[in-house]
Amino acid sequence: MSYTIGFIGAGNMSGAIIGGMIAKGIAPERIIASNRGREKLDALQSKFGIRVAQDNLEAAQADVVVLSVKPQMMKAVCEALKPGLGHNPLLVTVAAGLEVSSYQRWLGDHIALVRCMPNTPSLVGKGASGLYANDNVSAAQRQQVEQLMQSVGITQWVEKESLINAVIAVAGSSPAYCFLIMEAMIEEGVRQGLTHAVAKALTIQALAGAAELAAQSDVEVDELKRRVMSPGGTTEQAIFSLEDGNLREIFSRAMQRCANRADEMA
Ligand code: NAD
Repeated sequence: MSYTIGFIGAGNMSGAIIGGMIAKGIAPERIIASNRGREKLDALQSKFGIRVAQDNLEAAQADVVVLSVKPQMMKAVCEALKPGLGHNPLLVTVAAGLEVSSYQRWLGDHIALVRCMPNTPSLVGKGASGLYANDNVSAAQRQQVEQLMQSVGITQWVEKESLINAVIAVAGSSPAYCFLIMEAMIEEGVRQGLTHAVAKALTIQALAGAAELAAQSDVEVDELKRRVMSPGGTTEQAIFSLEDGNLREIFSRAMQRCANRADEMA
């Protein structure tokens, strides 16, 4: 990798990606981060040895510029960056809910921009990011973004911008659905007599183990489910109960509401 990467906004998401890149062996001199306050920059510099700047325009001189401030700050940040983007870097935005057309309005139609929708497990290297590139992004630049985001998990491209809303429903917001399921399972484990600590440890490992099994398996998830459900056994009773309660419909409705909200916010 010979290109340089600049991060505008050095918060949680930038910190996770930078940490992932360093762990993958990317040279810290290739990375520069800027932030409004000094404290987070100092922490990143001492932890990873990257270059830091308080002026966003300095970080924007990189070949790939990751825009990682909160969505409500993005317009002001982009407008201030505009004079420093004459070298036409690849821009990667991780901000939820802002469409490519907004960035083009602030920065010009010529920009090469990738919208990236990561999720919070990126913070522990297990992220699932959806990526959408506008027409100005080259094949080589697509590879650069993949390399960047694969340092904190997996990536999947979507070829229509509107599909980013489906990515939010499936991956961006879904860690929260999983935490809700965990909560419910822990609560019931406790009701059945386990201590909170035991119920929590078993719940987390069961879900992580199921996810790992699904990832490593070459059969579909419904087959994995069937393999746990011996006829007349215990699992079958639980699954019948969940299906009777219309779990699929509940998820369908929840994910539609999620995607609709993403659409409204764009
Ligand atoms: P954060 O608040 O941790 O980081 C944002 C950073 O930007 C802060 O350090 C802040 O000081 C800095 N900042 C604010 N204004 C600035 C300016 N004008 N110039 C330079 N720096 C400035 O937030 P985060 O969680 O890292 O989120 C960053 C972006 O990533 C957001 O757009 C968010 O929607 C997106 N995102 C985050 C997650 C996540 O899991 N954290 C997931 C998906 C998307």
